[in-house]
Amino acid sequence: MKALKCRECGREYPLAATHVCEFDFGPLEVVYDYASIKKSLTRQVIQSRPQTMWRYRELLPVAKEPTVGCQVGFTPLVKADRLAKRLGIRELWIKNDTVNYPTLSFKDRVVSVALSRARELGFTTVACASTGNLANSVAANAAAAGLRAYVFIPADLEQGKIVNSLVYGAQVIGIKGHYDEVNRLCAEIAGKYGWAFVNVNMRPYYAEGSKSMGFEIAEQLGWRVPQHTVVPMASGSLLTKIQKSYQEFIKLGLVEESPYKVHGSQATGCSPISAAQKAGLDFFKPVKPNTIAKSLAIGTPADGFYALKVMKETGAAADDVTDDEIREGIRLLAECEGIFAETAGGVTVGVAKKLIASGKIPAKDSAVLCITGNGLKTLDAVAGHVGAPREIRPSLREFESLLTADEVAPTVA
Ligand SMILES: *Cc1c(COP(=O)(O)O)cnc(C)c1O
Ligand SMILES: [Zn+2]
Repeated sequence: MKALKCRECGREYPLAATHVCEFDFGPLEVVYDYASIKKSLTRQVIQSRPQTMWRYRELLPVAKEPTVGCQVGFTPLVKADRLAKRLGIRELWIKNDTVNYPTLSFKDRVVSVALSRARELGFTTVACASTGNLANSVAANAAAAGLRAYVFIPADLEQGKIVNSLVYGAQVIGIKGHYDEVNRLCAEIAGKYGWAFVNVNMRPYYAEGSKSMGFEIAEQLGWRVPQHTVVPMASGSLLTKIQKSYQEFIKLGLVEESPYKVHGSQATGCSPISAAQKAGLDFFKPVKPNTIAKSLAIGTPADGFYALKVMKETGAAADDVTDDEIREGIRLLAECEGIFAETAGGVTVGVAKKLIASGKIPAKDSAVLCITGNGLKTLDAVAGHVGAPREIRPSLREFESLLTADEVAPTVA
């Protein structure tokens, strides 16, 4: 990595814990020395390294070897033939970050980068503003690294997400308000205390961690960029970084250049980016979230503008789905592929279904769905919607009368 650079005016800044341009408040982004990376980073070099996200470390913003989250990433890319059939598409893949290490969401990628870099910069206290998964990952990775952690969340999050932060001994602060209010408070706190806020002053480094999901997809597909990638959007950052990862692989000659589209998915109850995309606008209108997809409930998405730009540039689409469609998406993925995703996964499956049905993803094409979090953390969203166990007394007769109703014949004489 060479410097931080303003996305608006191009001014360069030193590689410190800072995230906005002093002149125009544009977001800062990490820039790399691609010419020198191109000389050393080959497919063979990458393949010779351990199966973690750090096999692409030249393209991640740390100065030395990572010290936090060294095992994160390289989650399975699953060929989803049964789901493909149900959705009506020739070829479908699931990038399965429901099993990311250690906290079962793609946020382990961004956190391992942010905390490794925070340590390089000398921080001992880390913090975040979170819709849930980020809090879990900061809490766990900080515990393992011996860092002090403050995590700020909306007070009404799912029980699973709250317990998954508390158990690691992090300081968990529930804010009575929406994520956007949590985020505003955190910007004030970050300015006053000398902490590494992973998604405030450390945001340029943090966001780069998301690229690893795209690098892995391209490598696991046999070094090619997928025609279609469907990505859930909260702040919109993951979507922009998936596209950046494909661009970097093309630039470095690791994959051949081929057309690709990066589509965005949101919940209808919080869809500022997809609403703007569908209306053909370059800017979104902030909303007040009301959806079961709490991990995506950001009404004022920090990277919404850039996500819209990426979708426009790649000729991609966006769409959104209702709470019922989210639950249906969760069930479809579980029943077809044996993967239990959280609400964000239901959003992505539901939107993929819509985009395939409308022909925006043609049935003859191939697509990858980014499934970013685990269903065990959002049980509240589906409990009561998946039926209930049938209860009987411990008697063979009762069991068999139940089987008679199912019309199942015994197979052993
Ligand atoms: C945070 C999160 C996202 C999206 O994050 P961006 O802010 O758009 O980068 C997607 N899925 C899950 C499960 C998340 O926790
Ligand atoms: Zn600037």
